This record gives sequence, structure tokens and C-alpha cells, in this order.
Amino acid sequence: MYKLSEGELSFESWVAKYRPLKNHITKYPDTSADFDQFETYGDEWEFIKTQDPHNVWTYIDGDSSSLLVQGTAYVNRISYYVCEVPWTDGPDETVVISVDNECVCFDEEREDNDGEFGDSACTICGGSGYATEYVD
Ligand SMILES: [Zn+2]
Repeated sequence: MYKLSEGELSFESWVAKYRPLKNHITKYPDTSADFDQFETYGDEWEFIKTQDPHNVWTYIDGDSSSLLVQGTAYVNRISYYVCEVPWTDGPDETVVISVDNECVCFDEEREDNDGEFGDSACTICGGSGYATEYVD
């Protein structure tokens, strides 16, 4: 189990604290899983740029984790959120969505032609050697 450190929040506690707004622009309101998220292009991105950055969080896909960071970021961005409650200046907060852990089958001596370190028969990771853990 991933343990949140100082300055890290789970997605659930972040929602409770900052209250992300619904995306009123999306053309896909029925695909509710992404309904709070705003695209990084087009009308939705134009809307993000009009927001106070303190109300914006960026969903980032990093090397070994997926995170929400404060403000409008560009590198590795996937989408944006706009929240009712602004974040305040001071120690940064990061929302940890998921982390990639070495799978139980990980073996650094195994690296195959695909650059994977897992057992191809593994039902957890499918052979990649890494398993994504969602933080709650
Ligand atoms: Zn595995």
C-alpha cells in the first residue's frame, strides 16, 4: 500500500477539500468518468486560460505515477481540473492518483526484447513487471 507523505493528498480528500467543478463545455457529458476534466486544447483549454491559476490543477502522467499538481502546467499534462475552492500559496500540495510499483514477478535480470521485466504469464501486470496501484 502506498503511503501518502507530507503535502500529498488522495483524490478523494482533494475532491472534498477543493470541490472540482463539472466541465460545462465538454461534448461528451455522458462519459461521466471524465466529466470533471478539461481538455488541453480547443474551447476547454481557452476556458482554462481565463481561470485564476489558483483554481486550476493539472493532471500529469509522470514516469512512475499519475498526479494532480497545482496551477496550469504543461509538461506531461493529460487534462485540467477547475475547482471551486482555490489552493493557497505556501507548501505545495500534490494529489497522488496512482503509482507504478514493481510487480511481484519483477526480475531485473529478465529484461526481454520489449524491455519488460515481468513474467509474461503474470495476471497482475501482463508481463510488464510493473503494476499500477490506485491510491485511495
Ligand atoms: Zn507481474
